Amino acid sequence: MTTGFVWHERFMWHDTGAASGTYTVKGDLQPGVHVENAETKRKFKNLLDAYDVTPQLEALTFAEATDEDLTRFHLPEYVERIQALSDQAGGDAGEYTPFGRGSANIARLGVGGTSAAIASVAKGDVDNAYVLTRPPGHHAERDRGRGFCIFNNVGVGILAAMDAGLVERVAVVDWDVHHGNGTQQCFYDRDDVLTISIHQDMLYPVDSGQPEETGEGAGEGFNINVPLPAGSGGGAYLAAMDQVVLPALRAFKPDLIVIASGYDASYFDPMSHMLLVSSHFREMARKMIDLADELCGGRVVFNHEGGYSDFYVPFCGVAVVE
Ligand code: ZN
Repeated sequence: MTTGFVWHERFMWHDTGAASGTYTVKGDLQPGVHVENAETKRKFKNLLDAYDVTPQLEALTFAEATDEDLTRFHLPEYVERIQALSDQAGGDAGEYTPFGRGSANIARLGVGGTSAAIASVAKGDVDNAYVLTRPPGHHAERDRGRGFCIFNNVGVGILAAMDAGLVERVAVVDWDVHHGNGTQQCFYDRDDVLTISIHQDMLYPVDSGQPEETGEGAGEGFNINVPLPAGSGGGAYLAAMDQVVLPALRAFKPDLIVIASGYDASYFDPMSHMLLVSSHFREMARKMIDLADELCGGRVVFNHEGGYSDFYVPFCGVAVVE
C-alpha cells in the first residue's frame, strides 16, 4: 500500500500575528503567540521524521491553486480581496482569521496540496493520502474566512476532482471538534457529496452544526450533523462512527472518502472540552480505512484541520498516519 503525503515548509510560514489566545492584540493585552500557529503541525512533521515514518510515505507534488480553482467555491471578489490584502500587509479574512503578508499564496498552496492528494488517490497513483496542510480550511465560507480558515481546502479539492471527471460521489467525514460549516455550505444543495460533521455542540460556529441542517433542494438528506455534548470521550465518538457515519456511508456508496482530520477533540486541547486520546484517533482512522476498502477500493484522503495542543497533536496525527 502506498500513502501519499502533502507537506510544504511554506505552510509553516503563514503568520497569524501577535495575539492573546485567539484575540488579535491592539496594544490592549500582552502580545503572545496566536493559538493557531505553526508549532502543532511542525512538531507532528518532526515526529514523523524522527520515527522514520516520512520515508515510508510518497511525497506528492503540487502548486498554488489558481483563481479558477478557488472560484469553484469562493466568490471572485473574496479571492481578489484576500490576495490584495496579502500583497500589502495582511489583514483579517473575515471572522477570527488574521493573516500576514503573503498568506494568500500559502493558503493557495494548501488548497493545491489537498487538490493534488484527492486527484492522486482518485487516479490510483497512490492508495490513500495524508495532507499536512496549513492554514486549515473547513470553516472558510464562500465569501469570507472564518475560524483561522482562509480558503476551503477540502471543498475546492473535491470540486476540482469532480470537474476533472476523476470522481462522481464523494463523502466528507469531519471529526474536527468544531462544526465543518464551510464544507457544509459548499455542498449543501448537492446529492453527489455527502457531508458529515461530528463536533462539540454549539462550540464554533455557535449558530451552526445542528441535526436539523440536513441539506436543501437536491442536497436534502445529504448533510449530517452529529453535535456531541462537551465532555464526550472515545466511547461517544466511536458510537457516532458505528451508528451514524458507517451506515450513512454504506448507503451513500462514495467513490472516495475525505476525512477532515482535526485533533482538537483531544483531552489536552485548549480550544474545546472533549476527551479523546491518540488511540481513539487511530481507531477512527482504522474504521475509515476499512470502510474505504469495503466501499471504494481504499480511496481515502486525510486532510489536517485544527488541533491546538502542540505536544499532543503530533501523537494523534502519527496514530492516524500509522
Ligand atoms: Zn477545530
